[in-house]
Amino acid sequence: MTAAIVIGGGPAGAAAAIALARGGAAVTLVEREAGPREKVCGEFLGPDAAALLRGLGRPLPELGAVPIHGARLAAGRQDTAWPLPFAAWSLPRATLDEALLAAAATAGARVLRGRMVAGAAREGDGWTARLGDGAVLRAPALVLATGKHELRGHSRPVRGGAVGLKLPLQLLAPLDGRVVLLPFAGGYAGLQPRAGGGANLCAALRKAGPEARNPVALLARVAAGSAQGTVLLRGAVPLLKRPLAVAGVPYGFRHRDGAAAEPGLFRVGDQFAVVPSLAGEGVAMALLGGVAAAAAILAGQSAAAFHVALNRRLDRPMRWAGMLAWLLDTTPDALALAARALPGAARLAAARTRLPGLA
Ligand SMILES: Cc1cc2nc3c(=O)[nH]c(=O)nc-3n(C[C@H](O)[C@H](O)[C@H](O)COP(=O)(O)OP(=O)(O)OC[C@H]3O[C@@H](n4cnc5c(N)ncnc54)[C@H](O)[C@@H]3O)c2cc1C
Repeated sequence: MTAAIVIGGGPAGAAAAIALARGGAAVTLVEREAGPREKVCGEFLGPDAAALLRGLGRPLPELGAVPIHGARLAAGRQDTAWPLPFAAWSLPRATLDEALLAAAATAGARVLRGRMVAGAAREGDGWTARLGDGAVLRAPALVLATGKHELRGHSRPVRGGAVGLKLPLQLLAPLDGRVVLLPFAGGYAGLQPRAGGGANLCAALRKAGPEARNPVALLARVAAGSAQGTVLLRGAVPLLKRPLAVAGVPYGFRHRDGAAAEPGLFRVGDQFAVVPSLAGEGVAMALLGGVAAAAAILAGQSAAAFHVALNRRLDRPMRWAGMLAWLLDTTPDALALAARALPGAARLAAARTRLPGLA
């Protein structure tokens, strides 16, 4: 009998399926995309993502990740750089997500690709998931790992949110192993080296505008935020006709249902918590949630207890990333000045946005 159904094959769902299958449980994962897809993600991975991926049998260097060793913050006329206090990498999400789904299948999970779950309901002691093609799956536990997509009847209790954008670029000058934070009026962007060459420009906009459809408008808006942004983006060639966009990103959201959690429904990844993008910690949090949900299901722990424990583990990076995102939004020049005056504080802040106790 199937012990768990996993809906969604991003890092959270794939990690849950790998860990469940390795633990001897029969698990079925359903992913609506039939093959590799570019995702709205800067593709920055820190030491805790690396440690979790090692544990899942997918070490980052073997997947072709490129190392990142420094950070830089350019705001107005300020421009400050510092070395990262930990090892970090960049790896395309298409590569990472496919590698994890392959690992899930190798571990013994049943992986259904190009199939979509249309709805799920609690029936009797367990869960029934109905697929778009009419197929029905049943199991005592359901892992909800649909990322930014809501499953009808089980949506996150959020309204509004930011617009997340991604635009791969060729740059005139390489970034030299650094991730660059570029605040601008109405949002902030991150520019970072892309494995295979070029860079990923990701932006979080408070409100949708022409930038969501037009690469030239996006580049102009980000470049206008700082002298260094103008230099870095001069002559940049967009590699897509329009940016990839996702609306309604509820930065800072955390699922806090506690004892009211629906029995047997384990929320993970962006369905559980959405960390501000500047931290580059969303994938690590998704992997941790997936692995922890599998451990909870294997141990017979309730979804309510799992949600409370996961909230506790995500608390530090959520609080620090939220505070830094607010400072970047409200006083970017002062933040850049502070990073220059107190390089130790910049390194400490970067370290505090990581999940504790993993790397
Ligand atoms: C602008 C931006 C930049 C970011 N940059 C970074 C970064 O540099 N580093 C980092 O670590 N994080 C970053 N993040 C966050 C990171 O992308 C997410 O936290 C992470 O992808 C969450 O993983 P997940 O598995 O929860 O969801 P996802 O990766 O979104 O996966 C969910 C999967 O579920 C599938 N799915 C959805 N609905 C269904 C359904 N009904 N049936 C079947 N399948 C379904 C989807 O196809 C998808 O594959 C960024 C986010 C944004 C918005």
